[in-house]
Amino acid sequence: MEKTRRQEIRALLSEGTWTLDGLVARYVVAKKIIIEDLEHIARSVAPRQRLLILAPVCEECGFRFKDRTRFSDPSRCPRCKNEHLSPQRFRIT
Ligand SMILES: [Zn+2]
Repeated sequence: MEKTRRQEIRALLSEGTWTLDGLVARYVVAKKIIIEDLEHIARSVAPRQRLLILAPVCEECGFRFKDRTRFSDPSRCPRCKNEHLSPQRFRIT
């Protein structure tokens, strides 16, 4: 049986880390669709597993984002306003 996109993404995130843009490029769908997939996966893996959001650290000032709950990438650093942040990464543990 063919896997659905959500099943595939779930498997990918169990094997390694992915960025939002990486997943969007792989499936060639709108960012919004992948964000919805991730929100759905985050709910459906709980409570045995967790979909972790590995947030970037700002390279300009060292600011650490913590407890990110949104799957869209932060657009800038809240401390120094740097807009060139590396993307956050996702992984299922
Ligand atoms: Zn910063």
